[in-house]
Amino acid sequence: MLVVQKYGGTSVGDCDRISNVANRVAETKRKGHGVVVVVSAMSGETDKLLGYTKHFSKIPNLRESDMVLSAGERVTSALLAIALEELGFKAISLSGRGAGIVTDNSHTKARIQHIDTTKLNELLAKDYIVVVAGFQGVSESGEVTTLGRGGSDLSAVALAGALGADLCEIYTDVDGVYTTDPRIEPKAKKIDKISYDEMLELASMGAKVLLNRSVEMAKKLDVNLVTRNSFNNNEGTLITKETEIMEHPIVSGIALDKNQARVSICNVEDRPGIAAEIFGALSEVNINVDMIVQTIGRDGKTDLDFTIPEVELENVKRVLKSFEGSVESIDYDSDIAKVSIVGVGMKSHSGVASKAFRALAEDNINIMMISTSEIKVSMIISLKYAELAIRTLHATYELEK
Ligand code: ASP
Ligand code: MG
Repeated sequence: MLVVQKYGGTSVGDCDRISNVANRVAETKRKGHGVVVVVSAMSGETDKLLGYTKHFSKIPNLRESDMVLSAGERVTSALLAIALEELGFKAISLSGRGAGIVTDNSHTKARIQHIDTTKLNELLAKDYIVVVAGFQGVSESGEVTTLGRGGSDLSAVALAGALGADLCEIYTDVDGVYTTDPRIEPKAKKIDKISYDEMLELASMGAKVLLNRSVEMAKKLDVNLVTRNSFNNNEGTLITKETEIMEHPIVSGIALDKNQARVSICNVEDRPGIAAEIFGALSEVNINVDMIVQTIGRDGKTDLDFTIPEVELENVKRVLKSFEGSVESIDYDSDIAKVSIVGVGMKSHSGVASKAFRALAEDNINIMMISTSEIKVSMIISLKYAELAIRTLHATYELEK
């Protein structure tokens, strides 16, 4: 079996922790597997390096920034290789360039274009443990690039895909993906297996074990992902194809997003093209509109409600200024939360959504907006009830069992 293991910043946070990682990698190698390891910089290191660049310039040159930022991962990869050699293994560290990770040339947010695995495969064939510096690559023109914050996950998934690895294990300091945020509902349970699509919906709530971009890439490249804790031996969560999972619970998890705001436009003209005008203006400045609800028109007027990322609120206000004359009012509310129930099992069951509505009604929680997809029901509610709603819904679908 070929395994790619990625260790995040806290897992390689100091020299003792790097030794701990070396022991884990050694254990996998002793089982006879081929092992490629991808490491992050020590926790806090990338921020520190970024701080250095800001010392000299408000807008540091991006090419030079990448030279600086990529250093953090180079350090941990080489230290881990030394630790592994000390344990008696053949080990070698490679930078992104050394590992053949070719990106476009958008410095500090480069996209991986392809991976030339020749060298990696040669080293693996010679029984080396290969330790790759995450978060970086090289552009076609030979410049060092970085992949954007949190990018080591992407390095790991891309390598697993290119090498046809059997498994890509992402090690962090949490046990895996939970049915909801355990800080809100202590009865939340770790999920053993979940599909890519469910994970994407749950991650956007800040299940924060994985970048959405990494899950999307894993789905595209057909990589079996496991998120595990590097500080214990618990099983973790497998993220895989829907068809690989035998039994789907109707609801797999409850997601919470507190970072949205609601815009309500009252009495806008009900005529063809109005939605195109409003949402066109917003998309021109790259604002992602999430839920949209339009009421049935009356007397040639209609109401339009939608949600946007809270951080874009001021931008949105500026854009919508030009519509103020032609509508009755525009209200903004950032004290809202989006709670979502997520599960592929919903596809084949009815009554899932109404059960949620009833449960929230019993708690006297008003639902302001609803949207549904095949595997998700999202509801906008007042922010102050968000945590209560999460606990109620968690109990309603018996996710503690
Ligand atoms: N070290 C980089 C960061 O802090 C990349 C990573 O850890 O994934 O964003
Ligand atoms: Mg990370």
